Amino acid sequence: MKVLVLNCGSSSVKYQLLEMETEEVIAKGLIERVGKNDAIVNHSPKGYDKIKYVTALLDHRAAIEKMLCELTDSNHGVIHDKKEIDAVGHRLVHGAEKFAHSVLVTAEVIAKMEECIELAPLHNPPNITGVRIMDEQLPNTPQVGVFDTAFHQTMPDYAYLYGLPYELYRQHGVRRYGFHGTSHFYVAHEAAKKLGKPIESLKIITVHLGNGASITAIDGGKSVDTSMGLTPLEGLVMGTRCGDLDPAIPFFLGRKMNLGIKELDDLLNKKSGMLGLSMLSNDMREIEDKMLKEKDPQCTLAMKIYCYRIKKYIGSYAAAMGGLDAVVFTAGVGENSPVIREMVCDNMEFLGISIDAKVNDCRGYARISTPESRVAVFSIPTNEELVIARDTKKIVGSMQGSKETAAGA
Ligand code: ADP
Repeated sequence: MKVLVLNCGSSSVKYQLLEMETEEVIAKGLIERVGKNDAIVNHSPKGYDKIKYVTALLDHRAAIEKMLCELTDSNHGVIHDKKEIDAVGHRLVHGAEKFAHSVLVTAEVIAKMEECIELAPLHNPPNITGVRIMDEQLPNTPQVGVFDTAFHQTMPDYAYLYGLPYELYRQHGVRRYGFHGTSHFYVAHEAAKKLGKPIESLKIITVHLGNGASITAIDGGKSVDTSMGLTPLEGLVMGTRCGDLDPAIPFFLGRKMNLGIKELDDLLNKKSGMLGLSMLSNDMREIEDKMLKEKDPQCTLAMKIYCYRIKKYIGSYAAAMGGLDAVVFTAGVGENSPVIREMVCDNMEFLGISIDAKVNDCRGYARISTPESRVAVFSIPTNEELVIARDTKKIVGSMQGSKETAAGA
């Protein structure tokens, strides 16, 4: 079975085509600047050189058509016809309380996704566009939706509710939803495999540090708390997002600087975090370099704030779960930055965390804790696409199974 995994963002289309018998990626790509005259196509077909070029792709339809052309190209195509794609798995951002699991996309599912748009106005519309275009392109091919929020639907009410009037939850769905669910799920299961223990017996904290960043407490394989909230703004300090803050700060700044809601939204989502603190960049590599090579005080401060916030969350989630067996670092920063892992884990022996500086000096997979460390600490590359592809295969497989059963009955 060949599964196409599609992630349609507001100005990008990211994709992978997987052969599910071997779970091998046979092509992947990223189309950026969708909507512009100078969109950038990056395509990597297995067995051929990477392809990169600039072209006009004025909307998501043009970008998806381009992706299908690349996949079926007469020179470097990995399939002859788009009909060889057996199923499409979509990364969908916000499923609110409507979706606790991945689902086969139907008209009813699309209608429910549309109801979630006000909770994710930037993410859900391009996600839905992607589903619609693929349905036009491959009308007889099943499509599956895998939600970023679904894994966190197991959180108890006392973890997902805010100290706001309860009516706001009932009427407007104001609560913690959490994001990056497929990533937290994947790396927690990988850690359990590495430990050779059933995930049901483990208390794990997963730390996803990409441009967006979130941390999750996973008890017995279930998400019991996570740092992102109603939106991805809450929690850790991120590339350009502030994370936790006194909720009165936007009122204060609005009055003081005469800022409207849109400007405050931009300030907290796009100009804060590591970009705002370092006064340099949202790219952790640049900030780390300035700290290490030039001892730049602003970058050093930004790094300390970033790591201190993570450390605080690890402590609070260990308390929330009443114990801790493993901590897993993942995503761009988590998988690649020994310095950040070291700063976070420094002075955590009281909690049973101690890491080996030499082993930690790596990228990608490693068990970085010392043999004596009571808590196992890992760096594990995430693979959200694989989770989406596996869920897609499972759902399409069960659909075919039930058709066969119905036919046989
Ligand atoms: P997203 O998928 O959220 O866009 P990624 O998971 O790709 O993000 O992570 C992007 C971040 O990872 C960037 O801030 C980048 O600087 C950081 N990163 C990548 N490689 C390294 C590295 N070697 N050291 C530190 N940070 C890194």
